[in-house]
This record gives sequence, C-alpha cells and structure tokens, in this order.
Amino acid sequence: MDLLNTLVDKGLRRELPSREEALAVLATSDDELLDVVAAAGKVRRQWFGRRVKLNYLVNLKSGLCPEDCSYCSQRLGSKAEILKYTWLKPDEASKAAAAGVAGGAKRVCLVASGRGPTDRDVDRVSETIGAIKEQNEGVEVCACLGLLSEGQAERLRGAGADAYNHNLNTSEGTYGDITTTHTYADRVDTVQKAHAAGLSACSGLIAGMGESDEDLVDVVYSLRELDPDSVPVNFLIPFEGTPLAKEWNLTPQRCLRILAMVRFVCPDVEVRIAGGREVHLRSMQPLALHLANSIFLGDYLTSEGQAGKADLDMIADAGFEVEGTDQVTLPEHRAAGVCGSETDACGSGGGACGSQAAPEPAEVPAASEARTDLVAVRRRGAGTDLAPNA
Ligand code: SF4
Repeated sequence: MDLLNTLVDKGLRRELPSREEALAVLATSDDELLDVVAAAGKVRRQWFGRRVKLNYLVNLKSGLCPEDCSYCSQRLGSKAEILKYTWLKPDEASKAAAAGVAGGAKRVCLVASGRGPTDRDVDRVSETIGAIKEQNEGVEVCACLGLLSEGQAERLRGAGADAYNHNLNTSEGTYGDITTTHTYADRVDTVQKAHAAGLSACSGLIAGMGESDEDLVDVVYSLRELDPDSVPVNFLIPFEGTPLAKEWNLTPQRCLRILAMVRFVCPDVEVRIAGGREVHLRSMQPLALHLANSIFLGDYLTSEGQAGKADLDMIADAGFEVEGTDQVTLPEHRAAGVCGSETDACGSGGGACGSQAAPEPAEVPAASEARTDLVAVRRRGAGTDLAPNA
C-alpha cells in the first residue's frame, strides 16, 4: 500500500503525516490490518527497538471526586463499587511502589482523584516522592494529581518528580460532552505548566467513548502539538455505574488501528497502552507491542489488570524485552530535550501528501460485544491489606 510506505518514510523522519493519512489508517480493512501493524512496527523499532517500558500505578486517593468526567469510575455520583479511600501515607505508597519496581517497573505513577491538588496535597505527594526515591534507586516518578495551580509543577519538580501526567482524553470539539466541571483548555494549561517546570509531560487519550475517527485524529494532532514525551492510549472500560457503561464500541482490530495511527503521528514518543488493554485487545495484546513501547504492569487505578507475571511472559513470548533502569527510554534527540521534528507543522495538513483522500471505511466494523465479564474492580494492592499485583 502506498499509504503505508508513505507513513513509514514519514515516521522514520519524524515527519507529520497529513490528517487524511491518519484517517486512512483508521479506515483500513481487517484484510490490511497485519500490514498496518507491520508498517507502524517499523517506526516503533526505529525509535525504541524491541524494548517495553513498564509503568506501575499507585492510586494515592481513590474515588469521591467532585468532577464529573463521564468515563471515570471515581466521578461525582459514580455508582461503581470501587475502592474508596483518602490519601495513602508516604510509607504505604512507597510499599506499593516497591512491589511494582520489584516486578520490573521503571516508572511509578502516583495518581490521586480530584480536580487538582491543594498546596497541602503537594506537600504530601512530595514526601511520598522522597520516600519512593530513597527506597528505589533509579526509579522514575510521575505525578498525576489533576489540574495544577501556579507554582505547583515547580514544587513537584523540586521534590524529585520526573514527570507529570494529565490527559487531553478527547478532542476539543467533544470535550464538553464528556466533562462539564472543567474544560479542555484547563487540561492543556496543566500540560503546559508541567512542561514549563521541566517535568517530562505525559498526556494521552481515551478511545471508545463514542467519538468519531475525526475526533480521534484531532486529539492525537493536538497531543503532537503539545509535544509530550509519553502518550498513554486508554481504551474505555465501560464501568457499570458510570454514564458510559453501555459504550462498548471497540474491537481488538480497532484498538490496533488506533495505536498504529498514534505511532505514525507521534513516531518518536513513548506510546503507552493504558487502561482497557486486557478488556479490549484481549488475545491480540502481543500484536499491540509492535506499536506501543510501554505498558502498565499489573492493575489499574480502580480495575484489575492481568497478573503482572502474565505481562512479563507476554513480553518475552512476543520477542520483546523489558527496558532496564540503565536504558534511556526516549531517542537521543528527545532525551536531550530537542523537541519537534524537521517538519514540525502540526495541524497544517501536510504538504505533498495532503492530496491523499481518506477512503470510506472498507467494511462496516463488526459490532463489538459487551465484555462485562472482563471488568473486575480492583480489590488488592494500594488501599487494601492484600498484596499488589506486580
Ligand atoms: S478523571 Fe480525575 S478529575 Fe475526572 S472524575 Fe476521575 S478522578 Fe475526578
């Protein structure tokens, strides 16, 4: 396919594909799927070899959020029967983090529900970061605490945080349908604050919320423009008790196309498969490793993942290797802080290749099945007396 040859060439040069090309990836047929994976896999290997970075989530504060993000089991009014607890103490969080590090995780992601941290919360998290760094040499710590106020990113950086996560989640055009208590612009502002404070920015999306292909391409182009170092791709887990409980829109094939599109648009960025991996990719998870270079080990914030051991086995069986703490995740030009690409023309629609028309979908995608049997609320690890899954 000319399309795939063009996309591989652009990906190897870090050149932005046109929107039409990105849309065309999402419109490929199941017959073309392995070719799409192989093409995006070449780009992945150019920048990240066969390494897989493991990240480990520690939910510092679970549930009881005043915000109304429709996809979230911790939202205002959620009826999902998730664990609910207030701030873990630094030693509790550090113990949870240590389990992930022992399981092979290189980055610990400290997440707290809520609109954003108070200054007292930043103090608590700073203490927690100190405790984790003291006990786990070389570990990267990412904080994910919601919308940041002035000066908070700098304080987290000063406390030793390496990165800050705040996802854009969906396109600017549909953001108001998903959340009403804060805006898309608020989210962009926090990613920019993290960046400006010298934190490695992590920002991604959630697919499967009923968005169009155009929305998906919009959010991925917006991410490219924001230039985070890592892009987590979540596949909606339609939790019972949330407004999106009936949104079972994804097939494994659709997930692979989305990951391939993200890889082509953000070729040299850490693309991380996040929540929903097991639920939506199911037995196709190993193929997704050819597209993404990073996953979460074990459980998610409020739901269970597959056993950490199964993650490690899958990586080895698929011929990939877990990235060590002595290896640098990002390609040299990024790790050195040189951002952008030779043709950093986000959203411009792209020069010579802009003439390629997006084809109509080759076939109507198979209806996806509701796999509520695969959704299990997390009942172990942080906030419980049971051992974490790592
Ligand atoms: S995504 Fe974050 S801010 Fe939104 S409801 Fe969930 S915990 Fe609250």
